[in-house]
Amino acid sequence: MSLFLFRYIIIVYPINYTVFIVSNARLPESCRRSAPPIFNKENPMQHYHQFFINGQFVTPHGKETLDLFSPVDNQHVAQVTLGDETDTQRAVAAAKAAQKSFADSTPAQRAAYLQSFKRALEHRKSDLVEAMIEEYGGVRVFVEPLIEGAIADVQTMIDLLESYPFERRVGSSLVCLQPVGVVGVVIPWNASNLFICGKISAAIAAGCASVIKPSELSARQTQVMMECFAAADLPAGLVNVVNGLGNVVGNEITRHPDIAKITFTGSTNVGKTIARGAVESMKRVTLELGGKSPNVILDDADLAQVLPQAVGAAYMNSGQACVAATRLLVPQSKLAEVNAIVKATVEQAFQPGNPSDAKVMVGPAVSRSQYERVQEYIRIGIEDDGAELLTGGLGKPTGLEAGNFSKATVFTNVGNNMRIAQEEIFGPVLCIIPYQDEADAVAIANDTAYGLAAYVSSASRERALAVAAKLDAGQVKINNPFAHDNQAPFGGMKQSGIGREYGEFGISAYLEPKAIVG
Ligand code: NAP
Ligand code: MG
Repeated sequence: MSLFLFRYIIIVYPINYTVFIVSNARLPESCRRSAPPIFNKENPMQHYHQFFINGQFVTPHGKETLDLFSPVDNQHVAQVTLGDETDTQRAVAAAKAAQKSFADSTPAQRAAYLQSFKRALEHRKSDLVEAMIEEYGGVRVFVEPLIEGAIADVQTMIDLLESYPFERRVGSSLVCLQPVGVVGVVIPWNASNLFICGKISAAIAAGCASVIKPSELSARQTQVMMECFAAADLPAGLVNVVNGLGNVVGNEITRHPDIAKITFTGSTNVGKTIARGAVESMKRVTLELGGKSPNVILDDADLAQVLPQAVGAAYMNSGQACVAATRLLVPQSKLAEVNAIVKATVEQAFQPGNPSDAKVMVGPAVSRSQYERVQEYIRIGIEDDGAELLTGGLGKPTGLEAGNFSKATVFTNVGNNMRIAQEEIFGPVLCIIPYQDEADAVAIANDTAYGLAAYVSSASRERALAVAAKLDAGQVKINNPFAHDNQAPFGGMKQSGIGREYGEFGISAYLEPKAIVG
């Protein structure tokens, strides 16, 4: 969630468990040229029936539509037209044409396009925030800094372009890093516009045109983003957007010979399907996949300070975060104390509610089917795994029956071999897993198919660093689960993916080295 999703600082005060979010102040700037806004806040029933291809809003060739429902009350709120293969091919053709001239653009020109895109985002910041809250159910305390983080990602690429060595000397040769070609961007619904900003800014910085397939569940958020692309006045075809289903539009992107690389964020299963298809035309792939991230609390940590943070890290984005710290590893000798603090924290500060309310930390699942998936895992935890339920459980919280809300749930004394400890749930479900000693903690932390993020807390920075060195994860955060560096590489080991995003490592994934020898 680049998250990716920790691009802001959350300070959790242990005394009253209040959560404050500190984000960067930004200078207001208006965008250069605005496209006529199609998105209309006042109209409760929305129709998203256009794509952004070759610099214009176009009527899709695909005729099928999908109804969209509010996660808060399941009211029918919108309808989106689903693209087909023809729409995808049109978008790829536009990107291919744009790629020809864009490949020769200078870093300064690319930076100017990114500046323009950033201005457009800043101009529409509140629409980006409200769309994510209302369409997806993201909680305000999470969404506001997330959108700030998305804009900061664009700035990071602008800054990098000032000094990035697209040509370098290696031995007696000249190595030129040239754009890989047209990029297919396939992303999920849990932080749609954050992913778009991170991936598109790296692609533009590297000199690549792209075709984006967002989740069809993110149609409103996508609409605002398409309007930002239009307002940014980018070269026609540089960025194209096609709404549609994964097995139609996503499949066509995977298959199409004119796409040179796919950058995908989503589930491990779909990532494997894409990688299998991509190899046919030898596409490069960056895969940001699932996670079941361990949060190791060492025996010298101040529990009253670190446990409320740990709950926040587990329930981040209502649990719908690839980097959610869903396995809390604690010393066996302190389990009773941990249980008491975690239970009180969850019951006092993390009860689900309306995501628009600035005090609410846990919102609904994006859809009914995601709600049912979370419920099924809570059932598995209780009935199949026989885990000890500390708080929460099956069903909806009182007063929130109309929406896709699960109870903020914690299982304790969980065995790491249980399904709830091994499988990604993607909802507000935390597993507390006791360990015997530090070596046992490391073994449990690494006993997972995933390797996206990990967390360590200790009174001693040296101890935390020593444990971090032993953890198999693309990013390890020590002594602050919300620490963030948007230049640091982000990505997964093992089944959490292939490749890295953000900063220097991120841009290199869109470049092909060419050695000129002699
Ligand atoms: P998903 O089912 O894998 O879908 C992701 C995207 O892939 C969607 O746009 C989807 O389209 C598309 N897709 C589905 N089948 C496809 C196919 N055969 N070919 C090409 N594209 C296809 O993921 P999700 O359920 O939306 O999102 C949750 C998952 O994303 C979780 O596993 C989470 O861990 C992961 N995630 C990872 C990161 C990270 O950075 N590592 C960040 C956030 C989320 P449809 O919308 O039509 O299904
Ligand atoms: Mg899906």
